[in-house]
Amino acid sequence: MTGSEAIIDRARRVLAESRQAVVFTGAGISTESGIPDFRSPGGLWSRLRPIDFQEFLASDAARREAWRRKFELDDAVGPVQPNAGHRAVARLVAAGRVSHVITQNIDGLHQASGVPAERVIELHGNGTHAVCLSCRERYELADIRARFVADGAAPVCHCGGFIKSATVSFGQAMPAPAMRAAQAAVAACDLCLVVGSSLQVFPAAGFPEQAQRCGAALLIINREPTPLDADADLVLHGESGPLLTALTAGV
Ligand code: NAD
Repeated sequence: MTGSEAIIDRARRVLAESRQAVVFTGAGISTESGIPDFRSPGGLWSRLRPIDFQEFLASDAARREAWRRKFELDDAVGPVQPNAGHRAVARLVAAGRVSHVITQNIDGLHQASGVPAERVIELHGNGTHAVCLSCRERYELADIRARFVADGAAPVCHCGGFIKSATVSFGQAMPAPAMRAAQAAVAACDLCLVVGSSLQVFPAAGFPEQAQRCGAALLIINREPTPLDADADLVLHGESGPLLTALTAGV
């Protein structure tokens, strides 16, 4: 057995011993679907200073710019599909091994891979649709785009509220129901499997630590080292799709 086979074997055993695991994902699980992660040098996300929530509320120009960037980014990334990593996570959920997938991602790919929506906890919202900030009515991006292309104005709801991509911007409050659900899920789990997160964006990155404090084992799969590696029970450095596929063989 090679070193990497031995460590995957150990990870398989950690997974097999777990009665109720939680998977915590970041942008890294979706790079194999063609979505750049946050920290790629010169990447789409890091090129421009983000528009924070207060600016969005205060300025019509900022709202128009936010929508221009949103459509530019969606066009640059193109249509996306779940990859082998998302599918492996979906198999673990379907097999009853994982109670919840807590994700920082806004791409909806866990749901697209077959994880039931009620098992996915989205900490930073969802970028595949929009919402009125006042009455919370949902809007589809294709409709918003058609309006934006037609008149160049920042879209406004029939109630007069601002329409925004359903993601959590810098400076915007974290969604309380998702935060409560994530807290409950990590408190109840006996294993937290982190996949593709630099564990540097808080408060989201606090959940794996909280799981550990509640007695759960911590298993990290990431291309690069993370600040929690030293405290984890097991760390697998590499690509999440192949590693999760190997880890879930037979599930
Ligand atoms: P991050 O960019 O801070 O870290 C991603 C980590 O994933 C890095 O440490 C990187 O080494 C690792 N990685 C990249 N590709 C990998 C692969 N194929 N296999 C294994 N590891 C891989 O991401 P984060 O921790 O999620 O924080 C970034 C923030 O930006 C999040 O809050 C998220 O909301 C947002 N974001 C979301 C998406 C998305 O929805 N797909 C994409 C970019 C950014």
